[in-house]
Amino acid sequence: MASHNPAPAQLIDQFGRTVDYIRLSITDRCDFRCEYCMAEDMTFLPREQVLSLEECARLVKIFVNLGVTKVRITGGEPLVRKNAMWLFEEVGKLDGLKELVLTTNGSQLAQHAVALKKAGVKRINISIDSLKPERFKKITRTGRLEQVLDGLQASIHAGFEGIKINTVLMRGTNDDEAIDLVQFAINHNIDISFIEEMPLGDVTHNRENTFVNNVDTLKLLQSQFNLLPSTESTGGPARYWRVADTRSKIGFISPHSHNFCEACNRVRISCQGELFLCLGQDDKVELMPLLRANPNDDTPIIDAILNSMKIKPKGHDFDLSRAKPAVVRFMSHTGG
Ligand code: SAM
Ligand code: SF4
Repeated sequence: MASHNPAPAQLIDQFGRTVDYIRLSITDRCDFRCEYCMAEDMTFLPREQVLSLEECARLVKIFVNLGVTKVRITGGEPLVRKNAMWLFEEVGKLDGLKELVLTTNGSQLAQHAVALKKAGVKRINISIDSLKPERFKKITRTGRLEQVLDGLQASIHAGFEGIKINTVLMRGTNDDEAIDLVQFAINHNIDISFIEEMPLGDVTHNRENTFVNNVDTLKLLQSQFNLLPSTESTGGPARYWRVADTRSKIGFISPHSHNFCEACNRVRISCQGELFLCLGQDDKVELMPLLRANPNDDTPIIDAILNSMKIKPKGHDFDLSRAKPAVVRFMSHTGG
């Protein structure tokens, strides 16, 4: 088992924020086509334009040596990538890494939960937007709720330190399920976060009509549950409330209602090796060409990452009232 003595923090941006968390998308592909995330007919990247798993492992190791202590593997759907489990095992062994976590749609968890736990994955986020099979099918276009719930059960049995449901509420689609989803989380002793829909990608529905504000969701939930404000943080933008007399907490990820940028501690790496310094801005550094041109020398990659700290923007710039999304980039590309 790896020891957990982190490397000295070397990733400090121009605003004094330390970056100790990376989110790595290992594929743009997915077995679902969630309405808010993907178009119905997506064109995916050819294989050679996607980082190999070896390149992913090399990159994560470089970041961990620069003081990163938390790594989230995401996608697309990370568990549909062939041999993804090899990467989890490699990353799980890295000295200095404190937390290896995963965001998944849950469709493959029934097969992989035990192996993920064994590889060192601590916490899992599973996206579930509805507990009604028909509606789940409609939102994901191809997903089967039963398969995801089997995956959730397998994860509960595998004994992860934390399991959290991620839910995107959309007005007129699933905004009547907030209370049921929280009750479901309570019944399973797990957590839940409500993510406000972000204007990323070029999906067909009008987000101004479907947007559900987390302030309203919190009010609704407070009328039903005894919620205690919590100062807990998982190093992310979520604000948490404990549900009294239960083991569950509720998070609200609100890029619109709260500005979480001041405390931003993360960068994202797309499956093409683009280092995105902010989810809502275009600033990026291309790491794939550097990885491929320097197979035996990490120095150019380290230098590029250190230099990227100079261009990490102060904050994002989402505005729902714009005709066009702020950044036309699918979440499945950069990783949620
Ligand atoms: N496929 C995995 C899943 O669904 O959890 C991982 C990738 S997915 C892009 C990560 C998270 O991003 C999911 O919880 C999903 O609900 C969320 N997401 C995708 N598009 C979004 C959007 N436009 N606004 C807010 N959240 C979004
Ligand atoms: Fe796939 Fe996740 Fe995007 Fe849904 S949210 S389409 S499951 S990547």
